[in-house]
Amino acid sequence: MRELKITPIKNGTVIDHIGNGLALEVLRIIGIQSLDKDSTVSVALHVRSGKLGWKDIVKVENMELSPRKVNAIALIAPTATISIIREFRVREKRVVDLPDRIVGVLRCPNSNCISNQVEPVESEFEVAARRPVVLTCAFCDRRVDDFLHHLA
Ligand SMILES: [Zn+2]
Repeated sequence: MRELKITPIKNGTVIDHIGNGLALEVLRIIGIQSLDKDSTVSVALHVRSGKLGWKDIVKVENMELSPRKVNAIALIAPTATISIIREFRVREKRVVDLPDRIVGVLRCPNSNCISNQVEPVESEFEVAARRPVVLTCAFCDRRVDDFLHHLA
């Protein structure tokens, strides 16, 4: 198959090297409803990649990701790279990486956890292991390794 060329963007964010099939989860994290009405989102699914075999790519015009969204992407798509584009140039490119604490990104699976009660307590997880990633809740110690189903 010929390599798919996606139109370059003037300003925005390119999320590349997303694991095959995970682009829609990345879009959910980005929250397309929060976009500027004149912005285009391009998604390439199942693109050949030397490193990964197959990968997905997401390009979003006129948006830079908040640190929380980057953390969520790091959990769901740990191979992703994020490039910030300004005036058609890559201003910053980095591999997503997980901080030691993840605040407000996931829901604790323990329904009795204080972070799931009515009080406005933000969820907080500590990274217990990195390969593969395992998190433990800072309040109740519950372990989480299935991030897709616990995004806040
Ligand atoms: Zn908890």
